Amino acid sequence: EERILEPKELGEDNIQRSLRPKTFDEYIGQQDLKEKMNIFIKAAKMRKEPLDHILLYGPPGLGKTTLAGVIATEMGVNLKVTTGPVLEKAGDLAAILTSLEENDILFIDEIHRLNTSVEEILYPAMEDGELDILIGKGPSARSIRVELPQFTLIGATTRAGQLSTPLRDRFGVTHRMEYYKLEELKEIIRRGAGILNVSYDEDGITEIAKRSRGTPRIANRLLKRARDFALVEGSGVLEKESVDGILRLLGVDDNGLDELDRNILLSIINVYNGGPVGIETLSLLLGEDRRTIEEVYEPYLVKIGFIKRTPRGRVVTEFGYKHLGIEKILSEKG
Ligand code: ADP
Repeated sequence: EERILEPKELGEDNIQRSLRPKTFDEYIGQQDLKEKMNIFIKAAKMRKEPLDHILLYGPPGLGKTTLAGVIATEMGVNLKVTTGPVLEKAGDLAAILTSLEENDILFIDEIHRLNTSVEEILYPAMEDGELDILIGKGPSARSIRVELPQFTLIGATTRAGQLSTPLRDRFGVTHRMEYYKLEELKEIIRRGAGILNVSYDEDGITEIAKRSRGTPRIANRLLKRARDFALVEGSGVLEKESVDGILRLLGVDDNGLDELDRNILLSIINVYNGGPVGIETLSLLLGEDRRTIEEVYEPYLVKIGFIKRTPRGRVVTEFGYKHLGIEKILSEKG
């Protein structure tokens, strides 16, 4: 079953490719990051060198892949995109590295999921632009060294802490992607509505923005669904009613929370009197993958202040209780 709020890419999202910004002007928000990158790009161009390796981390759907594309455009180089789990053997990565042209950008998504054997050939490639490949088998096997073109690696991961230290150390620039502000989301949705040729009113746009969990990918997806709803059930104009209507059908509340979000909060409240509870326990209780809870749901619940992370586990905050309309029962021990 596909979640409407899934921040990872879904099959139907190919439409998003057409919505994907190609230049910094089209890339909305992330102001600090853009300023920083602009300077690095200008300097690299002046020195006629590739950019330093860049590590981007943060929840899915915030524009990491898009940023890699924008940087490639601004640098005037090619972008190759791959993901950690796809690179099974050292040879898979070697094939990609040797196909790069001078100053190209290689984007590796989910870079924390690289095999050790793959990671090991990545180190000298990143550091010295060299590739050591083992050819042949048994006693006649030997290692040959290949000079690689200069390239920039852009790695993306949901959490920087999951990366091995030697890999993390080889990135010159590390940046944490932030959830987008309401105004930025509205701008993204307006831009999308323009590209998709949807008529809208401002309230409709605001309503989608509020419920997009700070995530452009979700904003674009909700835009598309609300557009359909407006067409079939409404006036054809995307307005607050059409957004409310479709999100009610999809079980998404005013804060952009869905059933699993609410179940996370309710489980902590009902079973553990608000917490603290460990992530393992929570994942067992909900029958949901630990990583999904940790990397996709929890960061947003923490961001809007419904959950707090403490050394002893997750705690539902007063805000969280209030949102669900539940009174907090104080424990006897006080
Ligand atoms: P990630 O790689 O972090 O999972 P993507 O780069 O694939 O996220 O972004 C998902 C979608 O969200 C893109 O296709 C694009 O349409 C939209 N998007 C992301 N960042 C921005 C941005 N800064 N401005 C406008 N649209 C964006």
